Amino acid sequence: VSSKYNTSWSVVYLGNETYYTPTVGITTGAPPVAKPPAAKPPVVQKVQGYANRNANLYKKTLQSSPVARVLPQYTTVTYSKHNTSWSVVYIGTETFYTPTSWLTAGKAPAAPAAKPQGKVYTNTPGDVLNVRASASASSTVLGRLAHGTQVDHYGSTNGFYKIKYNGRDGYISTAYAMTLKPNAASNAVIVLDAGHGGRDPGAVSGSLYEKTVVLDVSKRVETYLRSKYGYEVRLTRSTDVYLTLDQRVQTAKTLRGNLFVSLHTNAATTPAAKGVETFYSSYSAHSAKSRVLATNIQSNLMGKMSGMTNRGVKTANYYVISYNTMPSALVELGFISSPQDVTHLRSDASRQRMAEGVAEGIAQYVRAYH
Ligand SMILES: [Zn+2]
Repeated sequence: VSSKYNTSWSVVYLGNETYYTPTVGITTGAPPVAKPPAAKPPVVQKVQGYANRNANLYKKTLQSSPVARVLPQYTTVTYSKHNTSWSVVYIGTETFYTPTSWLTAGKAPAAPAAKPQGKVYTNTPGDVLNVRASASASSTVLGRLAHGTQVDHYGSTNGFYKIKYNGRDGYISTAYAMTLKPNAASNAVIVLDAGHGGRDPGAVSGSLYEKTVVLDVSKRVETYLRSKYGYEVRLTRSTDVYLTLDQRVQTAKTLRGNLFVSLHTNAATTPAAKGVETFYSSYSAHSAKSRVLATNIQSNLMGKMSGMTNRGVKTANYYVISYNTMPSALVELGFISSPQDVTHLRSDASRQRMAEGVAEGIAQYVRAYH
């Protein structure tokens, strides 16, 4: 404590004693705290290593915090120890935290080869199957596989199975591969008839035409029966063309079909009419087997489309099922005039389920008779 004595001197009080000192040597207020010497930054020991699992990276040293990104297993990383259990991972200019136990110092081992997901057989009777460089029908052909060749597949994308071909990745169409051995399949020739076509649109609901829906479903039935069962399937039409009813019957004969299934959609003047029904002809020479075929299709179809009304199996002497020379059925997949049915007829997912129902009904019939 001090007080000014005159212009240049001050009195300093220490205990009971007083002293004099030049005022310039005294600063009022609390003395400044001495600055500690600047601490040396800790030496960061960076390590090269790899993620020994798919390692979550965090912005905090907390596994319950949001995952900032995931480091795939065997990815090489630079990291340093942060504390006893966490490390800092350096990616570009960013830093993340990850548990040290998920990292291993040193060189990453080669990632183990992907495991096959199943076996399939190529199914191109009398023909070969192209192996493509990518999952596209327009990509380079790497080679060809004979009918009935068994291959391991590594999953499917875009309608192609990924396979190994001469030590590299190749792709084969799932439409020409099947999970059962082709020689276990029946020799039955299945003829699918997509109703209407060309200048005859069939029943219409706005921009939706019966001829389009039934051609799409027919192709789905074809693909399903080929790929799952290896059956031989033929279509009376595979494009938007007009065929007379008699041309359809004659085509089935020429193709030496063993059974014939015509696909249609219904229409009514009232929107209340709805549901799925299958017809056979009591007039046909094959009415007993046709009834079994129609019944199998209707029950399998309803199994897949349980949300739709089941109108059952009926008889009708429609031309294509009455004058055919093989067991025949005609399926009405739903009413294009019904607001409920039309949502299914428009939907890809519903069309696929309809196709699978029709196909499984056909397969049930084929297993019984062929
Ligand atoms: Zn029709």
